[in-house]
Amino acid sequence: QGKRLALLRNVDTRTRDGVPIALYANAESPADVAQARALGAAGIGLYRTEFLFLQRKELPGEEEQFLAYRDLVLGMGGLPVTIRTLDLGADKADSSGLVLDDEENPALGVRGVRLSLRRPQLMANQLRAILRASAYGPVRVLVPMVSAAEEMVSVRRMLKECERELRSSGHEIAHNVELGAMIEVPAAALALPGMIRSLDFVAIGTNDLVQYTLAVDRNNDQLANLYDPLHPAVLKLIAQTIATAQKAGRRVKLCGEMAGDRRYTALLLALGLTDFSMHPGVLLEVRETVNALDRSALRTHASALLRAPTRERIQRVLERLGS
Ligand code: PEP
Ligand code: MG
Repeated sequence: QGKRLALLRNVDTRTRDGVPIALYANAESPADVAQARALGAAGIGLYRTEFLFLQRKELPGEEEQFLAYRDLVLGMGGLPVTIRTLDLGADKADSSGLVLDDEENPALGVRGVRLSLRRPQLMANQLRAILRASAYGPVRVLVPMVSAAEEMVSVRRMLKECERELRSSGHEIAHNVELGAMIEVPAAALALPGMIRSLDFVAIGTNDLVQYTLAVDRNNDQLANLYDPLHPAVLKLIAQTIATAQKAGRRVKLCGEMAGDRRYTALLLALGLTDFSMHPGVLLEVRETVNALDRSALRTHASALLRAPTRERIQRVLERLGS
């Protein structure tokens, strides 16, 4: 299998009926970035910046972050890189005292963008570092754990302000660095039609979307049987998010574990997805799967998949689709 997959390193990702599909890599370390590049990823679809903040006492400042993001951008040699702002909290605690440790329910607490907006200086440092890296290649900013349109209004305002300051102090930065939201809370998926015009792109985070839609802790082994990406409610939210974004002419990528699991590739193509972001270790498997599927045939089964009332029925449809 290793040999067969290795042959796919320099092959385009394209369905059997000729539709180009973009496979991006999720990354959190320089090793992931190197692997992504070597396997022919379309870019970095999700750079988890928490990596820079964990296991240390002092927070990284603007300069340290800038160097890390610049190296990331240079490492991808001109391919687009999506950098996610800090997503600490809940399962991603730190040791620098940033994350509140007296929350009764941290998964529903001060995490992701909620934490960033409460620490404007911290967020400004990160946005400035990302903007400065945009002088070295195409960069996009992605915001985690969004649950309300107002949060993105605040982030957009901060981004613009940082841009102005950097320009007036003589920094060269790209024009119009794109800003997008993670859709990983059901409220964001449901409210997306009202929000989409103020976003440049969206990224679906199914790891959290499954958790919050089904009220099932993503890390609780006791509930693993209930943590189900094929739950009809989850599929509806994914399908709606894809359709809303596409109707508004915005790019939509799926970057949860589901994107890198070839059991779900046919399903996601059927729902209209064209941009996937996954751990680089599974990129070639997914490329092999995509290249064997017929997208237009799959698209005709989207409504049957969305009508199916149970996981079993959804799986039965998928089996007929040959995945
Ligand atoms: C997700 O929630 O699906 C996601 C991609 O982000 P993370 O796994 O980092 O929470
Ligand atoms: Mg998430």
